[in-house]
Formats: sequence, C-alpha cells, structure tokens
Amino acid sequence: MHQTNKSFDIIIIGGGAAGMMAAISAKRHNPKLSVAIIDQTFALGRKILISGAGRCNLTNKNLTKDLTKKYFGDKKIIESVFKQFGYKEITEFFNGLGLELYEETKSASGKIFPKNDQAKAVVALLISEIERLNIESVLNTTVLSVKKDKKVFVLTGNCENKEVVYTADKLVLAAGGKSYPALGADGSGFDLAHDFKHRIIEPVPSGVPLVGKNELSQALQGTKLEAEITAYINNKKADNVVGDVLFTQYGLSGSGILSVSRGFSIELNRNHKNFAEVVLNFFPDKNSLEVKKYLAVRFKKHPDQTIENNLWGIFPMKFVFTILKLSNVDPLKRVNKLKVEEIEKLINNLTACKINITGTRGWNEAEFTAGGVAAEDVDPNNLESKLVSGLYFCGEVLDVDGEIGGYNLSWAWASGFVVGESL
Ligand SMILES: Cc1cc2nc3c(=O)[nH]c(=O)nc-3n(C[C@H](O)[C@H](O)[C@H](O)COP(=O)(O)OP(=O)(O)OC[C@H]3O[C@@H](n4cnc5c(N)ncnc54)[C@H](O)[C@@H]3O)c2cc1C
Repeated sequence: MHQTNKSFDIIIIGGGAAGMMAAISAKRHNPKLSVAIIDQTFALGRKILISGAGRCNLTNKNLTKDLTKKYFGDKKIIESVFKQFGYKEITEFFNGLGLELYEETKSASGKIFPKNDQAKAVVALLISEIERLNIESVLNTTVLSVKKDKKVFVLTGNCENKEVVYTADKLVLAAGGKSYPALGADGSGFDLAHDFKHRIIEPVPSGVPLVGKNELSQALQGTKLEAEITAYINNKKADNVVGDVLFTQYGLSGSGILSVSRGFSIELNRNHKNFAEVVLNFFPDKNSLEVKKYLAVRFKKHPDQTIENNLWGIFPMKFVFTILKLSNVDPLKRVNKLKVEEIEKLINNLTACKINITGTRGWNEAEFTAGGVAAEDVDPNNLESKLVSGLYFCGEVLDVDGEIGGYNLSWAWASGFVVGESL
C-alpha cells in the first residue's frame, strides 16, 4: 500500500496551454474545489514560450469562420468546443488578464499576438492567475500510471527519484502530444489514455520540415524565398499554399512547407506511401504563361543584359546562379541571344520546380501532433471520457490539430476552458 502524498478534488496532468487553462477555468467556475496541476518539467507553459518564435501567435481572427477547413479531427467535437469558447472568448480572456493583443497585418492571415510580442508575458500572466486562484503546481513530477480505485483516481509518479502518489476525484489529461519532447510532452499522455482502453489514432509529426535531398536544396542552403507550393501525394494534388520556403541541407523548411507537411507526414509515416512531391512556383502570383510574357517584356527592355543580371533584378544572386545551372543556361549569355528551348527550360524550373519528398524531420522539429486520443470515445459537449467517468481530455493529447496561424493554441485554450467549466 502506497502512502498518498496529497488528495485533490481535481488533478490536471500537464501544465501547458490546455492544462493551465483547464485549471483556471475550473477554479473560477467553482472556487471551493482544490485543483492541482502536475507537470514533469520544472516550469509551467514551456512550449508557449517558444511558440510563434517567442512571440506567441495565440489565436486567429478567422478562428470561428470555416472551422472545418482550419482543423483536422472530429467535426462535432471541434464545433462544440469553439461554440462554447471561440475567438471572442479567447481574446476577452487574455484582455481580462491585462494582456493587450494585436493583429499582424503584414500577412493578412488574421494572426493575433500579444502587443509586446513576448510569449513570456502570456506565460507570466497565466501563472499569476494560477497563483491568485490558489491552484497548486506540482512540478518536476512525472505521472507514470493512473488507476481508478472505486470513485477515486490514484496517480503514481516520480519526483526527483522518489515515488509519489496523488489522488483526485476528477482527472484531466492535458499531457500534450509528442512534439518537442524536450519541453515535456513525450507521448506518455497517450499511454495513460490507452491504459484506460482509449483508442489512440497513430500520432505523426505535423508542422514539420520535409526531407528530400535535391540539387536546389544543397546549393541554396539557408536561402528563403516566397513560393506557391503544391503538394502531390501518389500523383494526386493534395495541397496548395503560398508561403515561405527555406532550403536546408536535408530538404525544405519554412512556414509554407510546414503548412503542407501534415498530408506528407500522414501518407509517409502512417500510411507508408512512397510517392510524394513538392512543386514550387517562384512567381507565386503568376502562372507559367504569365511568367513567359513578363520575362519577354524584361528581355525586350534590356536586350544587352546578361540573363544572370536580368534575373538578379528579381531574385537573390545565389538563387539565380543555381536555377540557371539547373536549366543549363550560361549565366553570362545576353538575354537577346537565349534560345527558345533555354527560355522554356528556365521558365519550367522557375514555375514548376519538382522536389521529391522522402520523409519528414522527426518529433524534435515538429510544431504539433496529428493523431492522438480518438474522438469517438469522448463526449463532444464536455470532453469527458465515455469509457471512464470523471476522466477528461484537452489540448494536443486529443486527435484534433489545426493549421499554422494560432489555431493549435486556440484549440488548447478552448478545449481547456470547456473541460474546466464541466468539472
Ligand atoms: C516551436 C513551436 C512553435 C509553435 N508556435 C505556435 C504558435 O505560434 N501558435 C499556435 O497556435 N501553436 C503553436 N505551436 C503549437 C502549440 O504550442 C501546441 O499545440 C500547444 O502548446 C499544445 O498545448 P498542450 O497544453 O496541449 O500541450 P503541451 O504544451 O505540450 O503541454 C503538455 C504538458 O504535459 C506535461 N506532461 C506530459 N506527460 C506528462 C506526465 N506523464 N506527467 C507529468 N506531466 C506530463 C509536459 O511536461 C507538458 O508541460 C507551436 C509549437 C512548437 C513546438
């Protein structure tokens, strides 16, 4: 028989965005309850700190429009959660903590950030609310197993090499997915859910760079360009976005590539398909015919320029040099001396440059997880388990994920809030 370290009305496993929100929501809703957050790292909200490159893109103005286009997962759960806590409620919640927000207008994608561009401020204000509400934070403690003994959840864990036991009447699993395991979420939430017979949809990394060795990436390492990115999987067009492409030693990264990575990851890592290709158009606002006309005008205007100098007026020199090499065009050739076949090959490489994708980078570089606790055994109204009463799920541990642009943190806040209100 273990000695119980402490008993609470509610224990939340995981002190990330979802767990912190669930704790605040539960305690605000019912101040008499004793609430604890248990986390295996040394601090709450560590992933929030690195989100949005340290700026924390905490939600999106277009959140409640087109929910089904922005999220992957069970439609009923997604709609039910955001109906209860949508864009308005998320922004009001943070304004209520004293955090000023702004919309980043340069990308016109509705991304919302804290006005001071500091993720640290988001975490600091959440922690001060947790302290104000007397929510207990149990840090450096890994929950290793959970059992339900009659009506009570018994959690056994490890804190600095000592066994610890906590009990609770209700349990929230907010243990995240598997992305960036160094920050705490290592997939153990899936194991704990599985122990209660919950089905787990095989997790794969999402928001992740793509692997595909190719001449362009090798030559252009470190170069970032905007491009129209079309994803083909098994010869079918799977996705099309305009965004940044960063060439790397192993293949491709950048925000545009992360946006299309989900489909590749599912097909390559979960379904073990093997034909995947990215097609890049480096003139994202033009098709090949328009590019042909556009270059013809430039060539006519500057007939004595070398092709190298003419393209340098549009692209970085490293890119110009590489694309000319790939097209077998002499960089020093004058534009009025180019052969029709040379121009055609060049335009083809500039507007339909094919890169074979052989894999994805792993969990250490994935921004989030596709897959997780299956929706079918979770009540869409309050995210309680249909298999074990008193057990709830929120955040990335569930099989719901969103597009890049503040959608994943929005899911964490909203699902955490809904669970907290139901406890
Ligand atoms: C680099 C990066 C940038 C990102 N930028 C953005 C962005 O700008 N906007 C956006 O919307 N999304 C962004 N995301 C995604 C977003 O941050 C996550 O989807 C979200 O934070 C998930 O929150 P969560 O609370 O569900 O999980 P997590 O934040 O992963 O929290 C889970 C917690 O559970 C704890 N835990 C796990 N297992 C146990 C256990 N057995 N015992 C005790 N504790 C345990 C972990 O230590 C961890 O603290 C980004 C992600 C990354 C990696």
